[in-house]
Amino acid sequence: TTRIVWLRRDLRLADNPALHRAAQSAERLLVLYIHAPDEDAPWTAGAASQWWLHHSLQALSRQLDDAGSQLVVRRGDSLDVIRQCLQATGANSVYWNRLYTPMARTRDRNIKDALRADGVEVRSFNAALLNEPWTVETKSGGPYRVFTPFWKSIREQVGAVPPCPTPALPPAPEIDTGSIDSLQLHPRLNWADGFGAHWTPGSAGAEQRLQRFLQHALDDYDEGRNRPDLDATSGLSPHLHFGEIGPRQVVAAVDAASSDDGRTRSAQQADKFLSEIAWREFAHHLLFHYPETLDQPLNPRFRGFEWAGRDTDLNAWQQGQTGIPIVDAGMRQLWQTGWMHNRVRMIVGSLLTKNLRHHWQTGARWFWDTLVDADLANNTLGWQWIAGCGADAAPYFRIFNPVSQGEKFDPKGHYVRRFVPELSKLPDRHIHAPWTAPDHLLRRAGVRIGKDYPQPIVDLKSSRQAALAAYDKIKG
Ligand code: FAD
Repeated sequence: TTRIVWLRRDLRLADNPALHRAAQSAERLLVLYIHAPDEDAPWTAGAASQWWLHHSLQALSRQLDDAGSQLVVRRGDSLDVIRQCLQATGANSVYWNRLYTPMARTRDRNIKDALRADGVEVRSFNAALLNEPWTVETKSGGPYRVFTPFWKSIREQVGAVPPCPTPALPPAPEIDTGSIDSLQLHPRLNWADGFGAHWTPGSAGAEQRLQRFLQHALDDYDEGRNRPDLDATSGLSPHLHFGEIGPRQVVAAVDAASSDDGRTRSAQQADKFLSEIAWREFAHHLLFHYPETLDQPLNPRFRGFEWAGRDTDLNAWQQGQTGIPIVDAGMRQLWQTGWMHNRVRMIVGSLLTKNLRHHWQTGARWFWDTLVDADLANNTLGWQWIAGCGADAAPYFRIFNPVSQGEKFDPKGHYVRRFVPELSKLPDRHIHAPWTAPDHLLRRAGVRIGKDYPQPIVDLKSSRQAALAAYDKIKG
């Protein structure tokens, strides 16, 4: 028999159930990737994600060549392409791993029905999550909307399903492989050229990140994870998004590393890290159960919230020119590296949606285009959470103070200095609020506020009051 395995966001050979099962007893196996951007509309992959995908497909293609197989790529309507491949190779079955976004679910259901009507065997598997959304319910039925009880309910089963083995691959059928370059994923702008210095897309890059994290950062994860000035998180998010590594593999590696020598400290740190992996699960479950949250607030009260953003503020925010150092550092980190530290994502998100009162979707869209880890579930949850209208948001309306956040989590200003070099000579105690520094120190540091570095575009105190007043109107 000849089979097709249709890869999507599971760009790996290890722990890939669809590939594993398709390889069993097949004489020929076609490993197919289809670029069908329209099928994700209106959330077609952004430019940074496309950069990643281009390099990830190249890495996968090399890996498949080494394993005696090959990657076949096509651009076009997925069902049409699959039918053409079935016809060209005489294959009679198609296997894939499931996706959970609303668009992918509708598309996959339609394709499954159409292929089955053609008499083709179709099977799907779980590669992306520890628990699929329909398997976790509250005691009274229905999905969790608060993280802590969700985490408690799945904690015991984390690690219960081991990663599945990497298969020996049957040879590919005779077929034109297509070219990754022809998918035109590489951004036309040269802005992404610098990303390569920070990232190695593909499974090997994911494995290196994981090992580096386990050796150097896991032991201090609980404290370190909030510090953008340290390299204290895993950096696995884009690899997890594209499925170059799966959560079962991450859990198995973390369990092995933390139980190795019975280190209790490590076990506690590991638990914290696994709870972050569980936030990813939670986000996927929420989007599955509440697909309308892509553009509607999970908390219906926020339908009447008065958003009030101005375009000029938005430009300054996007360009890292708000005059608030930790925010500008974050927005420039995003532009230069395609990634931003989680603590700083919260700080820039709070400024945009609360002090500047831009709609959370405006921020979500910018992140969508510029993050290499842009993920519909995580991004939607992150933005709704920080805007105060999503799951697990604080019962009160929390507005981060970017100055005190900076002082607490970037105490020596290393992070700000790295991305906002025009402030690098300011003393630590003024680096997070340069507009309050005495003139002689500004002069000595070569900083003219309003010339070398902007005045803050917003008064933090009065904008906070205005946001609270807007919130009062919908509080009920
Ligand atoms: P680590 O701390 O090493 O965590 C390990 C993994 O756990 C991450 O790779 C990620 O898969 C998962 N994870 C960690 N924190 C979260 C979280 N809060 N929510 C969901 N999953 C989490 N993450 C994305 O992957 N894609 C996004 O598009 C995205 N958008 C965000 C937008 C906003 C406004 C906010 C506040 C957060 C967003 N996050 C997003 C979550 C988080 O910031 C990133 O997952 C994290 O910074 C990635 O870095 P890391 O891999 O080093 O994380």
